[in-house]
Amino acid sequence: MTSNGPTAFDHNKVTVVYVLGGPGAGKGTQCTKLAEDFDFCHLSAGDLLRAEQNRDGSQYGVLIRTCIREGTIVPKEVTSKLLENAMAAEIQSRSSHRWPSGKGRFLIDGFPRKMDQAELFDEVVCPASLVIHFTTTEDVMVERLLERGKTSGREDDNIESIRKRFRTYYDQTMPVIEHYSKLSKLVEV
Ligand code: UDP
Ligand code: MG
Repeated sequence: MTSNGPTAFDHNKVTVVYVLGGPGAGKGTQCTKLAEDFDFCHLSAGDLLRAEQNRDGSQYGVLIRTCIREGTIVPKEVTSKLLENAMAAEIQSRSSHRWPSGKGRFLIDGFPRKMDQAELFDEVVCPASLVIHFTTTEDVMVERLLERGKTSGREDDNIESIRKRFRTYYDQTMPVIEHYSKLSKLVEV
């Protein structure tokens, strides 16, 4: 699945920062602030998947809904392509008013949550410059998710799905965090 050719975006022209953390760690909230303060484009993998799930004619709707409810990870090609398309659209829409430094800046929220996604995106789309990992206790995260669930309308903000999401985070996402730590690209908050 990986290629040795050039990535879709030139690492010298586009800065990619991955933002990870357990469910309810505050990725989305902090990304909104970071995007404003540092002129980044904030792309949430979960939001892109939910939009694709609800798009008329999507062939992935059922697959995405099932994965989200079960707290499992949608096949890497789907999410990577959605992110690549969203990055291309942002760069296109900024064609007349580029980022001041001239270099595109993207905060990728909630991705990559599994090693195969990290390898695919780094090799095919654009290698990440930095990974920010938000940490807090599981009790705090569960409390926030249940509170959010009262109004979010999200099918996965219930205790059964939350437990499954934590399992996926420990089993699949922690190895990603360790991988970037070894590459000295990790910042823990
Ligand atoms: N998801 C996925 N691949 C990704 C990101 C998200 O499959 O790269 C799915 C996964 O099922 C996850 C759900 O989308 O549990 C919700 O992700 P989101 O980041 O929106 O949730 P958060 O952790 O922010 O509460
Ligand atoms: Mg989120």
